[in-house]
Formats: sequence, C-alpha cells, structure tokens
Amino acid sequence: MELKDKIKDAEWWRFVFSKVISIFLGLYLIGWSMPFLDSATTSIEGQPVSLWGRWLMTIAGLVLIVCAVRRKYQKVSSVDMICPKCETTFTAVRIPANKACAKCGLLLEPLKGFYDRHPELKDKDNEFPEDLMDDLK
Ligand SMILES: [Zn+2]
Repeated sequence: MELKDKIKDAEWWRFVFSKVISIFLGLYLIGWSMPFLDSATTSIEGQPVSLWGRWLMTIAGLVLIVCAVRRKYQKVSSVDMICPKCETTFTAVRIPANKACAKCGLLLEPLKGFYDRHPELKDKDNEFPEDLMDDLK
C-alpha cells in the first residue's frame, strides 16, 4: 500500500470515527435528558434540570445526530498532483508552493487522468527494473 493510500485511509477512519462519536454523544444527550420520561432524574451538579432544559438537550442531541449522519466525507486530497518524470505523487496539502517537483524541478500535473494522458508510463511499475536485473546476473 502506498503512503498516499495510507493517508487517505487514515483520513477516512478519522471521518468515520468523528461521525460515530457525534452519534453516540447525541444518543447519550437524549438518553440522559429524557424529557419524555417523568421518572428520569436529570441533574447537573446536584441541581435538577428543568423540563425545558431537558428538551433543549434532547434537541441538541438530535441535531448532533442529524448533522453527523448527513455529513459527507470530503476528500482532503482532492487535487493530488504527480511529477511527470519521477512519478512522485503529492497530496493537496503537500504540494510545494511553486507546484514543482522537489527532486526534478518539473511542474506537477494533476494525478487524475495522468495515466490516460501518459499511457506509456502505465505499466512501468510492473516491469522489473533494469539495474536490478543487472545485479542478478
Ligand atoms: Zn520528480
């Protein structure tokens, strides 16, 4: 797995995690305030919370859940770039200010569709490197 994929994976899990936490927090708020249950004794630091306060907390919990459910995953690296020479990929946050490859000094290209524009580079990874072949001789 490439580092880029690992970063995307981590971002994805962070997103899922924050979503789950928000839903649990919302459920907890609702379960704790229980305005629809007369027997519930909701209190903050020993002070019982009024019915209005409990409804407000339930609404806050619901808003939290709805927002978490509706939140869409936004790819952090939406405009990944690639160096056309060494094929180093840069996620959006790591692209240098001058948009040039740090190694080759060439202007980076958008990663999306890069191998459609450069089909000759497509299967390069699958070929056995020649210098490695020489070592084996
Ligand atoms: Zn390069």
